Amino acid sequence: MKVCKFGGTSLADAAAVGTVCDIVTGDAGRRLVVVSAPGKRSGSDVKVTDLLITCAQNALTGQPWEECLKAVVERFAGIENGLGIREGIAGEIERELRARLTSKPVSPEAFLDLLKAAGEDCNAKLVAAALRARGREAAYVDPGQAGLRLTAEFGNAQLLPESYANLAGLRREAEARIVVFPGFFGTTPDGQVVTFPRGGSDITGAILAAAVQAEAYENFTDVDSVFAADPRIVPNAKPIDEITFREMRELSYAGFSVLHEEAILPAVRAGVPIFVKNTNRPELRGTKIVPQHRPGTSRVVGIASSGGFCTLYVSKYLMNREVGFGRRLLQILEDEGLSFEHTPSGIDNMSVILRETALTAHKEQAVLGRIGAELNVNDMEVERGLALIMVVGEGMRYAVGIAARATGALAKAGVNIEMMNQGSSEISMMFGVKSADRERAVRAIYEELFEKTS
Ligand code: ASP
Repeated sequence: MKVCKFGGTSLADAAAVGTVCDIVTGDAGRRLVVVSAPGKRSGSDVKVTDLLITCAQNALTGQPWEECLKAVVERFAGIENGLGIREGIAGEIERELRARLTSKPVSPEAFLDLLKAAGEDCNAKLVAAALRARGREAAYVDPGQAGLRLTAEFGNAQLLPESYANLAGLRREAEARIVVFPGFFGTTPDGQVVTFPRGGSDITGAILAAAVQAEAYENFTDVDSVFAADPRIVPNAKPIDEITFREMRELSYAGFSVLHEEAILPAVRAGVPIFVKNTNRPELRGTKIVPQHRPGTSRVVGIASSGGFCTLYVSKYLMNREVGFGRRLLQILEDEGLSFEHTPSGIDNMSVILRETALTAHKEQAVLGRIGAELNVNDMEVERGLALIMVVGEGMRYAVGIAARATGALAKAGVNIEMMNQGSSEISMMFGVKSADRERAVRAIYEELFEKTS
């Protein structure tokens, strides 16, 4: 049994949903289908999830939401009519959305999630109907009733472990008929709808694949495979055939947006291989995400980059001899509710890398104030506009000279390295550069490591 997940662009209109039905029915093993909400049909289009967010925000602030609701219903009606489904689903969807929009909010966050989740929920009903219209037995399954339990962290929920046992029964159900399961949301133990972070349908797919012990988790998207670098930066980037879970996690973290970074662990734990495949070319194998490489294959598999970071730099003479300095510094961040990303350090200095959006001007002032008052440092500074470049590959552990080649390439391209860090696992190497240098840096390292033979 395979679990297949289809992203928003794969379900954006009637023709796309038709293609998805062909893919599902084209392989008898595809019994559990996880769907996103309809995505963009063109560059200027708006995702259904974003329309729903606007509806919710308007309702919360007492502004009119009819127009916005109409736009959502039209998206679903367009798919229903385009596929010739005669079940009156769009009417049902409109009633459901009106009920959600006029319900009494428990909290603004809970209300927003209730609306956000409706895109996936309605789409799953529609896709199940589309499969039935083709004469297949297919049924929509409600995540709340199926037992997908999540923490009450609205917009950022995490899985509660009892979900696996609750969802295991879906295997039997999927043996009898194709199960269409909405991605992106579940319910809290007290029954409120709650969503994962954006792009979270990938996570739902991975959880289901683990719960039913699927033979594979197929993640269908709009690209042929995962590429060794972002094709918008390196147009001729090579496709990756095989990548390990750990490598994929590192690359997703630093900007590879093909698969949500939290979608990897549930599948890894259950030993389910993940395939990233193209909805428009399902015959291609795509990228396989595996527990480990075959011996002798692959050194560097990919280069990712992501902007939006900042560094908090502190220096203090004889820091290396001061017991507890790092803990005290990090405690200040913890007290301010700040999660940090990396902590490269030297003998007398330490940098903490954070997301720029997390370190607001107000928090920056509070943090610097406390460091000044409590840690007796010689110097401290916050530098914004930092991008991280990650060079990732398990085989780097055994290969000599990769850092030298990468830094040499950056020097030749005139990119100043602000900071360097090699993860303790030696699976990734990280370079901090100015955001303006990000793309140039990725191209330079790519050319050096992928286009030269040694
Ligand atoms: N529809 C949601 C989003 O746009 C979740 C998803 O597509 O995975 O983020």
